[in-house]
Amino acid sequence: MTRKWTQGIQWPAACRTIRMAPLLGRFGILDSVVDSLERILPTYRGPEGSHEGIALLCGVELPHITLFTTAVFPEADHRRDYVQCSEDQFAAASAVARKSGLGVIAQVHTHPTDSALHSLGDDDMVRPRYEGMLSIVVPAYGRHGLRPLYSLGVHQFQDSTWVLAEHEDVRQNIVIVPTAVDLR
Ligand SMILES: [Zn+2]
Repeated sequence: MTRKWTQGIQWPAACRTIRMAPLLGRFGILDSVVDSLERILPTYRGPEGSHEGIALLCGVELPHITLFTTAVFPEADHRRDYVQCSEDQFAAASAVARKSGLGVIAQVHTHPTDSALHSLGDDDMVRPRYEGMLSIVVPAYGRHGLRPLYSLGVHQFQDSTWVLAEHEDVRQNIVIVPTAVDLR
């Protein structure tokens, strides 16, 4: 049996509600990772134009913060309104992370519209998932970039369900970490 890791099946927004909840934990994402997401997510395309894109965020979980150090852009079945990784495609991406001593600890995918809310399909099919994991939705195929991070749909898996974080909560608890600071 091939288990599919599927995201982005589009449902009418009116069909769903999602609970808001405070983010658990603090997160840091290297500025170079944000740069690569902004550059590469919009390159998931087909002959007819933009497609949903996907990235797996890898990094390390420290006692006081979870750091995202690397974005892996997997092979995927991508279309205008969904993106899907097979188990093999996900395994290949995980292997890249492990080679660097990292784990896959979050994911990012784009939506075609201005909606950054998990679709019902995302809720059911985003895997693997674990308590505290983040799933970030970037609107408009990422054309407008990722900054500020609170403009994105930041979801967290809490008590076996996906919840959405408030903008202010994201602003306070997910920081962009500079890879270099020149104080001269
Ligand atoms: Zn989606």
